[in-house]
Amino acid sequence: MNTLGNFINGAQTPSNSGRFSPVYNPATGQQTLQVSLSSADETREAIAIADKAFAQWSKVTPVRRARILFRFKTLLEQHFDELAEAISLEHGKVLSDAKGELTRGLEVVEFACGIPHLLKGEYSLNVGTHVDSYSLMQPLGVCAGISPFNFPVMVPMWMFPIALACGNTFVMKPSEKDPSVIMKVAELLTAAGLPDGVFNIVNGDKQAVDVLLTDDRVQAVSFVGSTPIAEYIYTTGSMHGKRVQALGGAKNHMLVMPDADTDQVVSALMGAAYGSAGERCMAISVAVCVGDEAADQLISQIKQEISTMLVGPGTGLKQEPHMGPLISKVHAEKVKHYIDSGVKDGADLLVDGRDFKVAGHEQGYFVGPTLFDNVKPGMRIYNEEIFGPVLSVVRVNSFQEAVDLINAHEFGNGTSIFTANGESARQFSEQIQVGMVGINIPIPVPMAFHSFGGWKRSIFGPLNMHGNDGVRFFTRMKTVTARWPKNDITNHSFSMPTMK
Ligand code: NAD
Repeated sequence: MNTLGNFINGAQTPSNSGRFSPVYNPATGQQTLQVSLSSADETREAIAIADKAFAQWSKVTPVRRARILFRFKTLLEQHFDELAEAISLEHGKVLSDAKGELTRGLEVVEFACGIPHLLKGEYSLNVGTHVDSYSLMQPLGVCAGISPFNFPVMVPMWMFPIALACGNTFVMKPSEKDPSVIMKVAELLTAAGLPDGVFNIVNGDKQAVDVLLTDDRVQAVSFVGSTPIAEYIYTTGSMHGKRVQALGGAKNHMLVMPDADTDQVVSALMGAAYGSAGERCMAISVAVCVGDEAADQLISQIKQEISTMLVGPGTGLKQEPHMGPLISKVHAEKVKHYIDSGVKDGADLLVDGRDFKVAGHEQGYFVGPTLFDNVKPGMRIYNEEIFGPVLSVVRVNSFQEAVDLINAHEFGNGTSIFTANGESARQFSEQIQVGMVGINIPIPVPMAFHSFGGWKRSIFGPLNMHGNDGVRFFTRMKTVTARWPKNDITNHSFSMPTMK
């Protein structure tokens, strides 16, 4: 059995922890390798190496840092197909979806190549007589990233390209469920000319994470994952004096107005609810329909579309399936239990994915596309994030009822409205308490030069991922006020300095 270790000082390095976690091909249920779960000491060693590398890397000029990232971008493009296939095999998402993930990650690298432009700071001439004031945006030091299983490459790439472009060094802790592809990406960083020790990967679990959250040498922690862990990361990291951005879970609603084009809505919902088997933090898991007529029409078309869906392994079939398996057996069981609870709580189960089997892949972690009608707040399938191919329809009578419903939910990551009416769209984007809003767009993931982040319990910390927020997160501002006096300053002043 192959064992995946760490990536330290520019090369793959075995771990001696003696603890492992199995990694599977979710389409077959076969174990493909085991990943080492690093010890606290190994994590401290990785931090020490990143700390040492910071002294040099922070002095490399921003343009030289950007050039290395530019070569990294070219290498990613050259290895695009093999990386996408590796993501698909280990995560389970279909190949075209894996390519989409890689493309969105690459876009952050492209953004990071232009970061020198955003490190210029501010300058004010003559804030006083012969006094100028300017700000420096300086790197923090060692930064850490902790990422979830559902985007094994894109989410780490939300973090480290920006951190590195700003002059920081990095220790990444990927998900233990699909850790291989980011190790290949790390090798491309070395091939691009990144000095050893600037980017390191520590594979592991809570033991490694807790060191990253408490070690004094780590200055900032960037986290993406479920809400309970995001909250833990935020409170523990902040308590230890670190800057923390921690993005959590989601329950994204799509508001369907009676004037929306039903064909467009159905097409958007199918991809947003069932794409990647619902394992996206921006998946739509609730369709809120205004009026019974719109709901009945929508449901009848969705049922028809589900009956034609192809579900299977992410790669290897002549015709690509629409969705693949879930990440693990445990997760597939959890999703099925949610479906049980929906039935128990009184929702109408219209399409049941619990006994779904894929011929030739009977041991794979598949759950079929599932559809509930008449879902209500208070039911577990409404309140909680399922993270599977389960779409709930909630019926309401008015636009305002829909807005109030969405605003009352504990999560506020993404949402969308489908309507032909500009005023409804405008009202929605103004009133809704959610961080990312789509208007006739089902999955409104901001581009790399904007920032990604939700509201409410979908995020802890003030700064979002990438875009300007990303640069602010990975730099610290210093403001210099300077006087070059012509004459000696001789009068002492004991009062607060002000402009005369
Ligand atoms: P998770 O919270 O279980 O794990 C995320 C990371 O935290 C992993 O690296 C894991 O090893 C680590 N971890 C897990 N338990 C820990 C503990 N007790 N102490 C310290 N570290 C721990 O999340 P997941 O199941 O890998 O990913 C799915 C979740 O991520 C979903 O809730 C999804 O909504 C969320 N997500 C959110 C966004 C976003 O942008 N808001 C994006 C992607 C995924």
